[in-house]
Amino acid sequence: MKIGLRIDVDTFRGTKRGVPALCSLFEKHRFHGTFFFSVGPDNMGRHLWRLLKPAFLWKMLRTNAAGLYGPEIIFMGTAWPGPQIGKHLDHVIKACAQAGHEIGLHAWDHQREQARINKMSPGEIYLELHKGFDKLADICNKPPVCSAVPGWRCSDPLLLEKAKFPFVYNSDCRGTSIFRPVVDGQELEQIQIPVTLPTYDEILGRDGVTNENYNEHMLGLLKPGQLNVLTIHAEAEGGKCLDMFDDFITKAKERGWQFVTLGQLVAENPEPPLGRIVQQDFPGREGWLGVQAGV
Ligand SMILES: [Zn+2]
Repeated sequence: MKIGLRIDVDTFRGTKRGVPALCSLFEKHRFHGTFFFSVGPDNMGRHLWRLLKPAFLWKMLRTNAAGLYGPEIIFMGTAWPGPQIGKHLDHVIKACAQAGHEIGLHAWDHQREQARINKMSPGEIYLELHKGFDKLADICNKPPVCSAVPGWRCSDPLLLEKAKFPFVYNSDCRGTSIFRPVVDGQELEQIQIPVTLPTYDEILGRDGVTNENYNEHMLGLLKPGQLNVLTIHAEAEGGKCLDMFDDFITKAKERGWQFVTLGQLVAENPEPPLGRIVQQDFPGREGWLGVQAGV
């Protein structure tokens, strides 16, 4: 009964405040997680302005995004260039690695990758990965062993570019089991660990889910004997939702669940079957994301 815990860190504020808060929480509960860091500029404000559509606005209201991410998110990278996360907050990332957590690459520029991945050439994708990889390797004094594309915006060209880096595994899609992707008939070496559970912003306010019953709802989605991978965000569970997540951990442990890094799940599944990643619409999300499919 294991839950692979993945922490996505998208913003400057999430790195600065959310990561130390989560590291303390995990120390209290005595386990490690896998942190995926964004290390280039924080332009997430652009992401919000670009998505000024009714459905997105509704989601922002539903999940109280300004409350979660802080009011400055609205302006990050819009009127002035976003601050470089890895440059200014390298000490936070270093401390997280030294605490024993697994460190992976989320992005160089989270906003750019999430918005433009399907429009980027393979060369541009490679450069984006390279900048993030180098910065994170430099900060941690060792190369990251894994990566997770922003917003689950996975494409075949992205997988082929990732194959040029020494990642052992990646977590780029939603799905139900660990697999090795096939692209154009080519079996890739790097393992995929899909996220199996929904994120906070995807389900809050839908189907009667509130902050009061959120943890019970999530506990009900865990599947004994199967792959369970949960994504939390440094900006949400490391901020406003910290106490709620603390409570979730306590309740899950009481029911016999153990929190582990994604790397630990890989170590237990060294020979996973083949699969593919397709781009699909997903409940609670704007636009498409990568979803596990059969070969
Ligand atoms: Zn992200």
